[in-house]
Amino acid sequence: MTGMQKAAALVSLLPGCVLAAACARGGPPPQPGAVIATHADGRAPIGELYAAYESLVARGWSLDVVAESAPEGTTSSLPIIALRSPGKGPAVWILSGIHGEEPAGPNAIAAAMGEIAELGSRRPVVLLPLLNPHGYARNWRYLNVAVYSEAIDGHSVGDSSHLLDDPDAPGRPRASAPSSPEADAVTRYILAHAADYPPAVSIDLHEDNLIHEGYVYSQGAAGAADPLAVEAVAVLRNAGVPIKAGGTTRFDEPIADGIIGPVTDSSIDELMSTASVIADGQARPGPQARTVLVFETPAAALPLGQRIAAHAALLRRLAELLVPPAD
Ligand SMILES: [Zn+2]
Repeated sequence: MTGMQKAAALVSLLPGCVLAAACARGGPPPQPGAVIATHADGRAPIGELYAAYESLVARGWSLDVVAESAPEGTTSSLPIIALRSPGKGPAVWILSGIHGEEPAGPNAIAAAMGEIAELGSRRPVVLLPLLNPHGYARNWRYLNVAVYSEAIDGHSVGDSSHLLDDPDAPGRPRASAPSSPEADAVTRYILAHAADYPPAVSIDLHEDNLIHEGYVYSQGAAGAADPLAVEAVAVLRNAGVPIKAGGTTRFDEPIADGIIGPVTDSSIDELMSTASVIADGQARPGPQARTVLVFETPAAALPLGQRIAAHAALLRRLAELLVPPAD
């Protein structure tokens, strides 16, 4: 890390002025002594992540603040950011950090900034690297509750049930309203920018601390036969990640050769793949990405460093494969 990056990371630790760019513009003054601490399990401090992601601005990318996230129980807001490459058109969307107790994805993106920047110079890319920043800082899966439970309805930043058609009542969304301001803002952002950056490929980096073998969801048109899903499983295996070859997920979804085909789970990934949404009572075209992949690495089975390396290897391999062929 250079001296300038260190300074940016330090500034980024202060609430009210989390982004170095906002500080430079004279954003709200930081509160003395009020530092956002990051859960200490070896994951990078959150300020370092923001500084790494912001480095794309110097390469011509646009930085958007999708929302200021301040879930109940937190004392200051943290920005949910997005970065768009200079070129517009059919795009690769990269999402990460939806579940705050899954640090590998946000850290791997920071580790693979060079390859992501290079991909963005060759074709359009939209990066949403840290979708639940307070969740990352405090190791909380959801906005309202720390861990998954069948008894409590955890509010996911990626919940898209307010936009997706209800199979039991076609023409109506599954939920009458977004489950949180963050889910509202993130889904609005995707629909708004799908015009200039129509999702061709969507990649969502996850982990699961209740499994000992990883797998890949493939929510796009080709389902489990998507060649990029097959390639992703091979990359994970090469990175030493045990893969669940058959059987079912803990949500009873069938797995074949490490891949699960399209599922109905009201996730942001289902939103990315859907052909139509119901927004403000009106049906309208959905993002309809052809390839939608969700990676799940087994957090309980492997040390964090190895999981970060596996996610970074996936990002690097996909960045190679997704570069358009030279004319
Ligand atoms: Zn997850």
